[in-house]
Amino acid sequence: MLDSGISYSEVSQRMGINRSTLRNWSRDRSLIEKYRDNGDCPRCEPLPRPPVATDAYSYLLGLHLGDGAINLAGDGSRGVWRLRIYCGDSWPGLIRTCEASMAEVLPGHSVGRVRCVGCTEVYSDWKHWPCLFPQHGPGKKHDRAIVLEPWQSEIVDALPEPFVRGLIHSDGCRIDNRVRRRVRGEWKYYEYPRYQFLNASRDIVDLFTAALDHLGIPWKRHVNPRPRIRDRIVVSVSRRAAVARMDAFVGPKY
Ligand SMILES: [Zn+2]
Repeated sequence: MLDSGISYSEVSQRMGINRSTLRNWSRDRSLIEKYRDNGDCPRCEPLPRPPVATDAYSYLLGLHLGDGAINLAGDGSRGVWRLRIYCGDSWPGLIRTCEASMAEVLPGHSVGRVRCVGCTEVYSDWKHWPCLFPQHGPGKKHDRAIVLEPWQSEIVDALPEPFVRGLIHSDGCRIDNRVRRRVRGEWKYYEYPRYQFLNASRDIVDLFTAALDHLGIPWKRHVNPRPRIRDRIVVSVSRRAAVARMDAFVGPKY
């Protein structure tokens, strides 16, 4: 674009790359060689930058921390990684939203679906998924530390809403809590909607509650008493105003 005479300012605006960076690149053409093999990965550029579709990225990061995995695709010989997000079949809208956010974060690559028992795996193959989701690693997420890189924290701090939405869409829900109260000698039933997030990783729960704090949404946390999922931590958002605030950008699964 620069060689065709478009100004630094305009290239900067169109590409989301700042002008001094553009000047460095155009002065040192050897950097171009380093670009040839980066597979369009923003983290593997000579001067790494965050993904451009930050809103979709923040949402996908939430989904990934909840119900995602990154493994080598096929027999692993091609060195291509497969990002998989497991979506419950009861919520076709979420499957479509998941596909759309994957396609937005990685334009030009196809997104596929695999039917599993009770769920659909949404996936995309790319050599650089671990660059965008460095939390990837062997073993279960709750057995290892999950720490965001500074550039990821910047995105989550700037866009906490899609991050919280992604976490709720994967490992959370909006439920109607039915409560029985005695009013003037008679039993009455009241319904209170609330949001819940369940995860076995303390680190992921901390990321979720930090994002809620950032949004000024009060929450409570306890350990699930049900024996089969005893290790799971539950975070609830149940105050009326807080639920209304969450409804504005999360809502029930669909
Ligand atoms: Zn990369």
